[in-house]
This record gives sequence, structure tokens and C-alpha cells, in this order.
Amino acid sequence: MFTRTRSVLGLGVLLASALPCFPLYAQDSAALANAAQNSEWLTYGHDYAETRFSTLDQVNDSNVAELGVAWTFDTDSFRGLEATPLVHDGVIYATRPWSSVFALDARTGEKLWDYDPQVDKSIGWKACCDVVNRGVAIYEGKIYVGAIDGRLIALDAKTGKELWSVVTVDQSRPYTITGAPRIADGKVLIGNGGSELGARGYVTAYDAETGAEAWRFWVVPGNPADGFENPDMEFAATTWFGKWWEVGGGGTSWDSIIYDPEAKLVYVGTGNGSPWSRELRSAGKGDNLFLSSIVALHVDTGRVAWYYQTTPGDDWDFTAVQGLMQAELVIDGKERKVIMQAPKNGFFYVLDRITGELLSAEPYANVTWATGISKETGRPIETVHARYKDFVSTVMPGPGGAHNWHPMSYSPLTGLVYLPTQQGSRFNYVKEPEFEYQPGKWNTGVVLGNSAALPQRPQEEYVEGVGPVNPTPGALLAWDPLEMKPRWQIDYPNSVNGGTLATAGNLVFQGTSDGHLLAYAADDGQKLWDVDLGVAVMAPPITYALDGKQYVSVLAGWGGATALFGVNPAGEYKPEGRLWTFVIGGDKNIVPVKGQPYPELTKVEFNDDPAVLQQGSDIFAERCAMCHGRNAQSGGSLADLRYAAPATYDIFQNIVREGAYSGLGMPNLGEYLSEQDADSIKQFILSRRAALMAQ
Ligand code: CA
Repeated sequence: MFTRTRSVLGLGVLLASALPCFPLYAQDSAALANAAQNSEWLTYGHDYAETRFSTLDQVNDSNVAELGVAWTFDTDSFRGLEATPLVHDGVIYATRPWSSVFALDARTGEKLWDYDPQVDKSIGWKACCDVVNRGVAIYEGKIYVGAIDGRLIALDAKTGKELWSVVTVDQSRPYTITGAPRIADGKVLIGNGGSELGARGYVTAYDAETGAEAWRFWVVPGNPADGFENPDMEFAATTWFGKWWEVGGGGTSWDSIIYDPEAKLVYVGTGNGSPWSRELRSAGKGDNLFLSSIVALHVDTGRVAWYYQTTPGDDWDFTAVQGLMQAELVIDGKERKVIMQAPKNGFFYVLDRITGELLSAEPYANVTWATGISKETGRPIETVHARYKDFVSTVMPGPGGAHNWHPMSYSPLTGLVYLPTQQGSRFNYVKEPEFEYQPGKWNTGVVLGNSAALPQRPQEEYVEGVGPVNPTPGALLAWDPLEMKPRWQIDYPNSVNGGTLATAGNLVFQGTSDGHLLAYAADDGQKLWDVDLGVAVMAPPITYALDGKQYVSVLAGWGGATALFGVNPAGEYKPEGRLWTFVIGGDKNIVPVKGQPYPELTKVEFNDDPAVLQQGSDIFAERCAMCHGRNAQSGGSLADLRYAAPATYDIFQNIVREGAYSGLGMPNLGEYLSEQDADSIKQFILSRRAALMAQ
């Protein structure tokens, strides 16, 4: 079917089977510094550069179609799986929803230990984008995990026993941790999320051995009346206006933190503003440092060495937390140590990672908020319709981003970055007419429900943006960071697809949200392998070698922001997650994961008063849709409320206003919703159930 008879690159880089046996690698700073050549997977992005490139080439463009299943592990979880598994000394470590960690024999999938941090599930509502976790860090015999409730926990790598735990956030605020910790210079680094709900973001470094705090980098300044933590914050405050600290300002760094051990610099990708609307956040002006930026920090102190702000004065939820990677590129005849990023805002950036100099920035998707990045100032040239206030303005990309957390990879052999993009991302932005910060809900300051009835920006005020006008919802781009354009492209029918892995076997692996795992030739994009796993793949695949065999592993599990808002490309309802591991000569009989059947619907009477249903619809959009889906249509990972058993509607008030299901993650909204409010939501859901039955 998909055959290639030659290895185009012909590079025999550390052919796994040529080694008599594999040495036991240490897991210290020296091992991390050399991880690029390692046949294990020692840190989130494979090695410090986080290019997700493996030198293994036993599986390559001539034999990848011979991959079969080596083993699988059912995760006993039914929400999003986003983790990058780590592999060390024959053990594979990964995480699942609610921040639990499991360790398996990497040869067989046999479970060695399982650790559950026992998160109080009633805080699940704080997670904007599902109670996911993107993985662990490993260092000197310890495994580190960030728990969704804000703890950083160190475990014994052999036993999974807890060694120490520190609370990294003010747990009375809506902070979460979903990102993987990173190791830098004997410290373990962790950020947080929460900018949608109202938070002030930061990254903290702890002593990896003891858990003692070493330093904290605040992304945005706090209330000047409380004094600034350091001169970086005093400087940042000159770019803020109004009373930004009341909601928090935002900037939460929930994903990318990488380290250059030679430069002794930590690079942090920072998040969007909180609230989203700059009108509401900062009196409509100011760059609002260090939002939406790439910030280089001195590893000893956490103080800023340089910064580059990708989206000054963010108005659109344009985080720059997306994967950062280091590479050495020859630009204008000169070797440059670069850092690369494709943040949500649609531009691909290449910067000198020592000086912070902008080397290039070009659109990788259709961008209508800007017509380019000025070479003189390094700032975006905004279109006149980009900013919104009292009218609805349609902008590309939208809050989902032209690229989100799904990791990109880079092959030094092809010189290409394999970038999972969301080409169709767009949003109708309008400021909430009467915004007031309220704990316990999203506080974006932007209308998230139906904005069609609000004043619309006149068509003639729209101007053209920049970049390819591409109707495909999602696409894998093989992006040339020198030419700053795609060398090849694979279009997908759905916007959200998995992260990528590049290997010296001239291969790129990627999963899709409709449940496939694919391999392409890294140089020309020819499809070489395609298997149906049944359940969405959002996580990036990894590869490792043991006993002369190269394995490819990936977590498949549907969830995350897209699932919560209500899109279900794989079609399966609440499917169980699974860790799949493939090897040449493995079992070719791949049985896709099946979801649960939708329950039979029976008729339930409801109040069809249009005023009640409108009220219920409005409250649902504001309070419920971010987990149970737009218009009460579940995206397939959480309960579809239209299908509830009739008896469940009888205890609706208990569930919504008394916390009857808080152990499942459903918050108690009694403080915020009246009995009548809750009843209107129920009537709205029942009307949606009736509409479904009428289909
Ligand atoms: Ca955000």
C-alpha cells in the first residue's frame, strides 16, 4: 500500500539495532544536556531543545507500514489525554486526567505503579480546557507532576511514593496546572493556568531535591500599592493602565518553559490577558507586559534577560504559551542560535535566543488582525477592524488559535518544522456590555454566547489581512523556517489534531481528532501509514528503543477545550483512553476503541415559555457551555445533559445549587444561581432534549 524502497536521507544516525546492548542512562543534568542523541525520551520535548526529534531510524520511510501493536494500556479515564510519555531505564511514565501518574514496563505495558494525587474534584471547573495533564519531568530518581489543584509533587521514580509536595498557587483563586514541569540547573519549574477565569500568571522554580522555592517570575505586575516584587515588575507596570490587578491581568504560562544550559537562560511562553478585552483590563491602552510574550530568564534568579512580545496589548486571547524550540540555523550566511514559536496569533517567529533579536515573522495561517510584523519595530501592523469594543468584529484567528498546545517538531535533517495548525480559527469578538468580575465563572469580558443580536461592525470597515486564505479547518504544515513558508501541507477535515514527532527515519508521526495515527515522509509529505485507533489523538507520539527494538507510543483520549465546547469528530461518546505502543512486527490487527452508547431518550415534560427558555439559554452559555457544550450538545467527553436519566432532572437543584455531583467535578453554583435561574437552565436543557427527539 504505502511503500518506499529507499531511505531518502540515507542517514544512519545511531542505528538502534547496531548497539550490542543499551547502556543505562543517568537522569541527571549531563544526561539531559545529551538527550538529543539518546534512545530514551527524557523530557517533555525529548531534550532541552524540545524539537521532538529522535535520532532513531530503525523504523523508517521504507518499513513504517510494518508497524503493529506491541502492547496497549487502558487508562481507566474518559477525558482528554494530552501527555507526552517519558521513557527511562525501561519504564514509561505518563499522566491522565486529574493529574494521576502511571509507570509501565516500556517493553510490555505491564503496570509498575499508579499514583493518584487525590484532587478534590469540585475544583474541576477552574480548568478552562479540561482537567488534562501534559506529563511529568524526571530527574535524579524522582518523577515530578503538577496537579490540577496547583500542587507540584515529587515521587520516587521506582515506587511512585510521594516524596514532597508544595502548593504553588493561592488555592482560593482559579489557578490550575496542566503543563509538564521542566528541569533546569537542578531546579524544577512549573507555571499555571487561569487567565480565562481571572488570575495573575507566574512561573516558579523549586529546588528539585527539596522542593524549596528558588525564585518566581511574575508575568504581569500586581497592585502597585503593594509594592513591586522586582524591577522587572516595576518596568512592566509602565505598560499597564486602570486597575488591571482587580481581575488579575493574566499571562498565565501553562505550557512552554524550555532551557538552554549553555546560555543558562530559561525561556517562558506567556499567556493572554485577563480579562481578554483590553478596554476592560487596561483602560484600552498599553502593551501590557509581559503578556503574550517569549521571555528569557536568568536561570539563577528568574530575572528577565530579554523579552519579545508577540501580541502587544492582547485583545484576543492570543497566548504565546505554544511550544518553544531551539535550533541552530544558518541565516544570511551566519549560524544563529534561534528560538522558534508558532503562537496562537498566526505568525511563525524566529528569534536569536541569546539576544532576543527578531529574525523573521511570517503568517502560517490566514491572519486578519494584522497585515504583517514590521521589520523596523518588530511590532504587528494591526488592521483597523482588529480591535473591538461595542460592536462585533470578526477576526482570524480566534481564541482557539491558529496553533494551540499540540506540540510541533523539527527535523535537523530536513530543516522543516512539523506544525499542527488550525487554519479555520476565527471568532466574533465583542466586549461584554456590562462586565463585572465574579468569582466562579469565566471572566473574559467578551461575549461568549450568541453575539448575533449585538451591533455588528460594518462590512466596509473590514480590510484584508495576510497569509494563505485557506478554507481547510486543520492542516499539518511542513514549515521551512528559513524560507518562512510551508514546503508541504496535509489538509484535515477537523481543526484540532495531535502533536507531532519527527525521526531520523525520515518520518513524521501525527494523530488526528477523528482517531487516526499517521506517518508521513518527512521530506515530501507522502502518506506512508494510517491506522484507525477509534478515539481522538491529541497528544504527541514519542519513540524509544529497548533491546534493539524501536517503539512508537501515543496516548489516545478525547477531551480538552474542543470537546468541552462541543465538537466530536471521532463520533464516540465517552470513549476510554488508551496508551498505544507500536513496533515493527507487532500485531497488525488493530481494533479501534469504542465509546459508550448514547442512552435511549424518553419524553420529559418541560415549561416551553420562550422567556424562561431564553433565560435558561443565556445562563447556560455563561455558566455551563464551557464544559457541557454549546446549546447543551456535549462534545463527547463529558455528560451530554440532553441524555440524562429522567430521575436526574428531578434532583437538578441539588446538583446545580448544592453540589450533589461535586465529586464528579460539577461545581456547586448555589452561591451564584437562584432556584429560578437553575430551573430555567433545566427547562432549556429539556427543550434541547425534546428538539433532539423530534429529529
Ligand atoms: Ca487563554
